[in-house]
Amino acid sequence: MVEPGVDRKNGGPRQRGIFRSGGSGPPGGWSRSRRSGGTPFADARPEDGRRPERVAGTGPVRQGRDGPPHAAMRGGPRAPGAAQVRTTPGVRAVPRVRAGVPEPQGAGAPVASQRALPSLPPPPVWAGPPGADGRVLLDAMGMLPGELADLFVAGGEPPYRGRQLFSALHAHGATDYVAITVLPEGVRARLAAEAAPPAPALVARRVDPLDGTVKYLFRLGDGETVETVLMRYRFGYTACVSSQVGCRQGCRFCASTIGGLTRNLLAGEMAAQIAYLNRDLSDPTHAGDTAWFPVPGGDAGEATDEGEPEAQGRRARFDRVSRVVVMGIGEPMENLDAVIRFLRVVHEPSGAGIGWRHMTVSTSGLVAAMDRMALVGLPITLAVSLHAPNDELRNRLVPVNRRYPLGELLPACRRYLEHTGRRLTFEYVLIDGVNDLPEHARELGRLLRGLTCQVNLIPMNPVAERQLHSSPPEAQARFRGLLRGAGIPCTIRRQLGASIDAACGQLRRHVEAGV
Ligand code: SF4
Repeated sequence: MVEPGVDRKNGGPRQRGIFRSGGSGPPGGWSRSRRSGGTPFADARPEDGRRPERVAGTGPVRQGRDGPPHAAMRGGPRAPGAAQVRTTPGVRAVPRVRAGVPEPQGAGAPVASQRALPSLPPPPVWAGPPGADGRVLLDAMGMLPGELADLFVAGGEPPYRGRQLFSALHAHGATDYVAITVLPEGVRARLAAEAAPPAPALVARRVDPLDGTVKYLFRLGDGETVETVLMRYRFGYTACVSSQVGCRQGCRFCASTIGGLTRNLLAGEMAAQIAYLNRDLSDPTHAGDTAWFPVPGGDAGEATDEGEPEAQGRRARFDRVSRVVVMGIGEPMENLDAVIRFLRVVHEPSGAGIGWRHMTVSTSGLVAAMDRMALVGLPITLAVSLHAPNDELRNRLVPVNRRYPLGELLPACRRYLEHTGRRLTFEYVLIDGVNDLPEHARELGRLLRGLTCQVNLIPMNPVAERQLHSSPPEAQARFRGLLRGAGIPCTIRRQLGASIDAACGQLRRHVEAGV
């Protein structure tokens, strides 16, 4: 089991500080972090300017007391007798909440839109993949403007430098710190030496001329690869972002899990996927070039049955990503700290500026993490990969069901709804003869009765390594009709990118295999 935020490759002790005097950059500067004893972010405050609450496991960690900073911060072994306070990753400690499970919420429970979002803890170990010499690098792409401002202040620079850096990375798509000329030369050199690269390298880019879907394969700083998909709808572009390198959930119909899990992505590595796509979309040399972004003719480009009621009546923009779904390679709930941080970063108006209600995070049903995400209270949509109406079938298709059966999953869904007041969708991949029979539709209707939700039926994308096939159109329509007859809102998703290895993880496998 990989703890959220654990990076197996980076889990060892820090080689040396970053953004500290004495590093490889110019002498002087960044000295306050050294005085504060340990991490360069020890005095950093959250974006609201308040000093973070000092809670075991979230505050600055001193070497030699709680063990190596990384091990302690990432759930590693503690010194005997060290305080053991359970906290919710991504948020400050919440009183009266035990073991990360929210207390039952009544009908009048506050919803996310009515209260302020909790502050993020300071990011003392937001480090990227090791540099060429084994150093741990700063994940600058995964930091909020206020955090970057604090970092600069700690280094003796004015705080507005942090906002300049954030805007350059996330609004203007800088791919190289040295090219951010608004920053002083010494700062740029130091960032280039001590921060993780702000952009991944492009390995492959495939375009589906029929529906305008673009699939990217990116190489990360440590050589690993991830996929990102850009989908064109009538309301604009949606980016499907990967949250892990590989996946270990073992869903039977999925290509991403065939090689297992390699590591979690950093928040900055997820944000860099959005920045790359925005850079592509806004590049004037691509405008009108249908080899880059085809505009499908006729109905092919229209999302006629997308289950996106909030898209109605909005003016479409096609020069940037307007929605994000964390549904690419990986199980987002296994990397929840980084996913929450990523969402906070791309929500920033001075960056990608993606609205909360235009964000969706999926899960195969990790109930404990779903409860933790509900506590954070981000007003985003939760998409639960259901794929079967009973435990017996779901155990076979989605193995995590053996750990969290439907009897635990559905109450967790209700808790998420009560706590956030947001939308809940169930994803249901239709597999010919496996889960698309009339009795499955009727059973699903009974299972979801009384739950405020939407079911998205997804014709299965072919995966060469799996002996499973998509339901024929008549079976899809029959399934939808039966569900609607049972009073469950239900749509059939368009099959996007069918000609470009559309199945999650398929392009990565094919490119790495040289196919
Ligand atoms: S469907 Fe999602 S959770 Fe399941 S194996 Fe694939 S990437 Fe992992």
